[in-house]
Order: sequence, then C-alpha cells, then structure tokens
Amino acid sequence: MLAGIDLGGTQVRVALARSDGNLITSVKTKTPLLGTPQAMVDWAAAEIDKHRGREKVRSIAIGAPGPIDLKHGILVNPPNLPWRNVPLAAMLSRATGAKVHLANDADMAGLGEFHRGAGRGTRNMVYITWSTGVGGGLIIDGKLHRGAHGTAGEIGHMIIDPNGPLDNCGQRGCLEAFIGGANLARETGHSAAELFGAAAKGDKHARMVVERAARYMGLALISLTNAIDPEMFVIGGGVSRSWALVEPTIVGTLHSSPFIKPARRPRVRRARLGDRAGQVGAVEWARINQ
Ligand SMILES: [Zn+2]
Repeated sequence: MLAGIDLGGTQVRVALARSDGNLITSVKTKTPLLGTPQAMVDWAAAEIDKHRGREKVRSIAIGAPGPIDLKHGILVNPPNLPWRNVPLAAMLSRATGAKVHLANDADMAGLGEFHRGAGRGTRNMVYITWSTGVGGGLIIDGKLHRGAHGTAGEIGHMIIDPNGPLDNCGQRGCLEAFIGGANLARETGHSAAELFGAAAKGDKHARMVVERAARYMGLALISLTNAIDPEMFVIGGGVSRSWALVEPTIVGTLHSSPFIKPARRPRVRRARLGDRAGQVGAVEWARINQ
C-alpha cells in the first residue's frame, strides 16, 4: 500500500492507495489544530494505521511547502507554518516503518495533474499554481524534473521586468511580484477573491488589473514554451477558479508570439483535480519511488 500526504499551512490531507496508485480513502484536518510537527506526524501515522487494514504501507510521499532539503527530507522554513528545520521524512518513517519521501507541494500537484488530471496523456507538461504565490512543477519526457538542487519549476520567480517591484524573494520584477494574489491584494487594497469577484461583475478597474495579470501570465508561458517546449500548460490554484476571466488573455498572449508557430503552440488547460491535486500527486510519487 501507499500513502500520499499534502501538507499545507491551513490543511493537511492523507490519502491511502493500493500499490497501483488507486485511492482507497482520504482524510483531512486543519494543520493549526495539530500544532507541532510531531503531533502532525502522530495524526498522519494514526490515520494510516486506521485505514490500512492488514496491509503494510511501504512508501509514503509528503508534498510540503518549500524550501525543502530533499536529500535529507527536511522542511526548512515554510512561509506559512511556524516550523523550522523539521526532519519530517525521518519522523514519519519512524512512526510508520515506511519509506518516506519529502517533496515540494507544487511538484506533487503537477504530478497529480499529469497522471490523473488535465495533463493525462501528455509527455511534456508544465503545471502552474496561481494563488497567493505562483509556483510550478515541470514534467519532462514523462518524468518530474526537479533540477540539480530540487528547485526547478520556480515559475513565480522568473523576472519579467528588471525595473518592477521588489519581490519577497529579494529579486526585482518577478512574475509573482506582478500577479501573485498577495501582491495583487496589496496593490489594489482588496483581497484577490474580491478583486476577481469585482472583475467578474464588470468593474472596470478590477478588469484592467486582472487582464494585465493574465497578460503577464501569458508572457511567462511564451518564455516557458521557448525554454521547455511543452505540449500543455495546466493552470491550477485559486485564480484558476476565475478561468473564464483569465483564459482568453492568457491564450491570446501566448498566440500573439510570432516566434511560436501554431504547429508548436502548447494547449492551455485549467487544472482538474482542484485541492486534491497535491495528495493525488503525492500518492503517485510514493508509487514511483516505492
Ligand atoms: Zn521572486
């Protein structure tokens, strides 16, 4: 048996699956209710134990917010959790007896969409999560591409304007500084949900801000297409709920590139698995690494 865990700042989800990756059950709770990393590990181990029946769980993957020390399975300093340098893989391995793989949450969501969501049937796919921040996961030749240091796919930190605003990462003019929900909220004085809601109702200023953000996303897709040549972009995260508002501009911008000829234009799709993508991807990662 396999298990996949999606650890976020607000929720933690545990999914149990057969060794072919087919889900048996999944449970979730609120991360802050658990408090400490050890309490989270104990809760996850107890849930796995409760649902595994007589079967042994051999492999578990955890998708967690970066930065992560992939080699040692350590959660370094997630931005939305007060946990520092937690050896999560070793802790969960001790509690369950399983092999545990700690991975980046956006990578796991991308893997989920690739194997069981919008990206099924592709070989080269770029997953982008567009929410408070902007992250991504790269699937190249059918495999998750993590890069030399495990940090590939940081799409939000591609620089699109060297004179742009300063981002949290220390760089100036990152994609995320322009279109991340937190930065859009700061810029407009409304939460991202309010901004997209107003745009949907036809508010002119909100529409302009959303359209500009979608255009920047489209420009990022042009750069990514030139660098990676994917068959498909899959866009998930909170903003993808406003798909009808952003899709025409994203696709229109991508298609406006005279360099990317129609024959090599990637498709642009909305993610299909919603907030289950992370746990589904973690199960796949556990299966691949069992
Ligand atoms: Zn940045």
